[in-house]
Amino acid sequence: MITRTKDELRAAFKQGIFPLITQTADELDVECYAIGGYVRDLFLERPSKDIDIVVIGSGIRMAEALQEKLHGQGACISVFQSFGTAQVKYDGEEIIEFVGARKESYSHDSRKPIVENGTLQDDQNRRDFTINALAVCLNQNRLGELLDPFDGLHDLEERLIRTPLDPDITFSDDPLRMMRCIRFATQLNFHIDDHTFSSLTRNGERIGIISQERIADELNKIILSPIPSKGFIDLERSGLLERIFPELTALQGVETKHGRGHKDNFYHTLEVLDNISTRTDNLWLRWAALLHDIAKPATKRWEPKTGWTFHNHNFLGEKMVPRIFRRLKLPMNEKMKYVQKLVGLHMRPIAIADDEVTDSAVRRLLFEAGDDIDDLMTLCEADITSKNQERKKRFLDNFALVRQKLKDIEEKDRVRNFQPPISGEEIMELFGLSPCREVGVLKNAVKDAILDGIIPNEYQAAYTYLLQQAAADGFTPKT
Ligand code: ATP
Repeated sequence: MITRTKDELRAAFKQGIFPLITQTADELDVECYAIGGYVRDLFLERPSKDIDIVVIGSGIRMAEALQEKLHGQGACISVFQSFGTAQVKYDGEEIIEFVGARKESYSHDSRKPIVENGTLQDDQNRRDFTINALAVCLNQNRLGELLDPFDGLHDLEERLIRTPLDPDITFSDDPLRMMRCIRFATQLNFHIDDHTFSSLTRNGERIGIISQERIADELNKIILSPIPSKGFIDLERSGLLERIFPELTALQGVETKHGRGHKDNFYHTLEVLDNISTRTDNLWLRWAALLHDIAKPATKRWEPKTGWTFHNHNFLGEKMVPRIFRRLKLPMNEKMKYVQKLVGLHMRPIAIADDEVTDSAVRRLLFEAGDDIDDLMTLCEADITSKNQERKKRFLDNFALVRQKLKDIEEKDRVRNFQPPISGEEIMELFGLSPCREVGVLKNAVKDAILDGIIPNEYQAAYTYLLQQAAADGFTPKT
């Protein structure tokens, strides 16, 4: 049960930077409140970094006055005149955001409101959820007084996400709130109130006015939540997923032919995502889990002898990753390449574990995965979603064997991040060749010989082997 008496709240707001805020507000003779996420997280006993302050008056003036008081303590201020807000940053990272209480009205085609000065109540009305509208007075004479016009405290207790006003208005005014609704429910493990949820289903089409960057930002927060599947299930049930990420909804469903079905790849993917989330906080490894089977719908075939197959879904998936990242405005840099690589390679450890584990296969995998080999193994382990405990154990044991083998081979042959010991330039120089196909063929022959264990990963052995190969192809070294 969440209880915070006025005395307790008073005590909480006598800590840290707050007495200085109280003093500043009183000196300027303006009403001032802590509001939003900071207050919510205080009740939930969650860590919260940023502090949002509403001032009944000018937020910018209040921020400037506070910064003056903090002078000499390395505080800096950023003023956003056009938004009427200002941020004070102190202690290197703590951020306090000041805003004057405002009233907002929206036009249909933009989430940018027309803003006018307002009362605290106006400001609370414009908040997205009841649990984000709680305000605590910071002026000395009312310090710790809670203003909770929408019974947000009750919703915190019931673990409910609910809009303060009619959800159709709240969501239609600023459709980003629909993503935030599902994101908060996922991060906090709350339920979405029925009335609020049905409004999500009615207003889905409004998501079209939200930028991809903001959608991706919310998706990332959902993916980084403790149980991300919860968010994706809500996105799917509300119809939003189909609009923002149709490749994921395409994974849904089970087709049966002659009594043989395949697994539902949507729920399988979510299980893999949840599994990996217990093992890592790496956002991009979680993305790799989300996308590992993304090409299954496109590669699904019925083969009379084997049943349902998804041949090469890993390779096609690898090709789909940049398209999806570009559309969602996710980074197109090495993070995307990392996800791509893991999606492309995710079947390889399975193939190795299934067959007799040969040194050559392990060496090749190490060479291709490089430093990402551990993450790849983590992905593969998370990919085991069999309900049959015996099977599950067998697969995990096989992967443990692959991990051991990887370790042994790496110690022995050092092929992780290996560069073939003889470069293309050296080959050209040696045989007097200009850049041509043969140079690549010779270079690859040396690389393959090392990976297949025909020769050791050493310069002299590579050189001798190169001469032999070249001679067979009719090349002789320049003298
Ligand atoms: P977190 O920092 O964990 O994302 P938060 O609640 O602090 O949570 P912010 O995005 O920092 O989220 O927003 C601060 C407060 O501003 C919110 O608690 C809410 O009251 C209000 N707010 C933010 N975005 C919106 C929005 N799109 N519509 C209405 N109110 C919003």
